[in-house]
Amino acid sequence: VIAADVLIDRAALVATCAGRAPRAGADQAAIGAIPDGSVAGWQGKIVAVGPAAEVSAAIRLVDGAQVIDARHRTVVPGFVDPHTHLVYAGDRRDELTRRLAGASYAEIAAGGGGIVRTVLATRGATVDDLVAAARPRLAEALAQGTTTCEVKSGYGLETAAELRMLRAIRVLDGAQPIELSPTFMGAHEVPLDYRDRRDAYLRLVVEEMLPAVAAEGLAEWNDVFCEVGVFSPAEARQVLEAGRRHGLAPRIHADELAASGGSRVAAEVGAASADHLIFTGEAEADAMARAGVVATLLPAAAFFLKLGRYAPARMFIDRGVAVALATDMNPGGGFTPSMPVVMALACFGMDLTIEEALVGATANAAAALGRYDRVGSLEVGKQLDAVIVDGPLGELMRLGAPVVHTVIKRGAIVAGRAA
Ligand SMILES: [Zn+2]
Repeated sequence: VIAADVLIDRAALVATCAGRAPRAGADQAAIGAIPDGSVAGWQGKIVAVGPAAEVSAAIRLVDGAQVIDARHRTVVPGFVDPHTHLVYAGDRRDELTRRLAGASYAEIAAGGGGIVRTVLATRGATVDDLVAAARPRLAEALAQGTTTCEVKSGYGLETAAELRMLRAIRVLDGAQPIELSPTFMGAHEVPLDYRDRRDAYLRLVVEEMLPAVAAEGLAEWNDVFCEVGVFSPAEARQVLEAGRRHGLAPRIHADELAASGGSRVAAEVGAASADHLIFTGEAEADAMARAGVVATLLPAAAFFLKLGRYAPARMFIDRGVAVALATDMNPGGGFTPSMPVVMALACFGMDLTIEEALVGATANAAAALGRYDRVGSLEVGKQLDAVIVDGPLGELMRLGAPVVHTVIKRGAIVAGRAA
């Protein structure tokens, strides 16, 4: 008999998402469904998961144990959001109004708007300012079921400000329930004062920023915006290889606005993930499949930027590339903190099934962050990070409805109506 201090009891369905990950092809839809299921935990970890009768026979609830009635509801792994820019200063919501009134991104940028504006505000912010600004964003994501998320630097574009962003991520990691995976992204954009000397900025990233980030142990990942007019494939490869020498594993923004070669770079350097991929072709997808690169797709970014198209998700799945989903929370066009909204866009905009989207938001997203050993599925030995959906699995598609009933992190209720 196994001791348990928490029991999520008698759910209509437990979707464990257990199994090998990242998973592609037909396995992208493997959600490990257990009808009439329960999940039990002890000190933050899962000790039993299975049919309700088997779990209750296998465990002994200790005094004061928490029993959560999940009847008529669905239990899924806590969502993992593997691509966000949620640490920043300033406010660009006014640009949304202008964009909807017809202003192009270039027009807004020419008037001092866009990423340059966020960089200015972020350079002027202290670590405490950045922490305070990001806290409510994380609380919103938590209420929508996110229990693990990646966060990037990249609005400093100078060494001191990049380090402050990463220090803010480290503070936030221990200061609220969502666990954070930090990414250095000094190569998010070429700052204005380096536009006519790009090589000098690349040297700054490679020779000054990366060593400083590594010396403080501030990041797990190194990311580059590989795009026409931003960083070329050769420049991206240079930055990612330099990061690797400093112990930072590569991921990349690729093929968002054009087929710009980033997906090729991802395969060549063995990136854990290539992200966006709206214009990626079949040959590049095949190279990603061979290299084991996860395709992290961000349909909310395509939606809010009004790109008029989404990434070819079905093509990736059919060609053996594992698909993960992420919000791309950011000040300019990443307006949803919600993984359920992203899953709905993935289903209705990119033709995924609900099961494929769920694996993309859990197991494959955790694998894209190198954390599938701890999170991303409901399996004995893993953290008890779970979301109780207020109805059948399809409830997750109801945009704007309060579909997340309860959020559990390391066995404790941290958000939702039972909190
Ligand atoms: Zn991004």
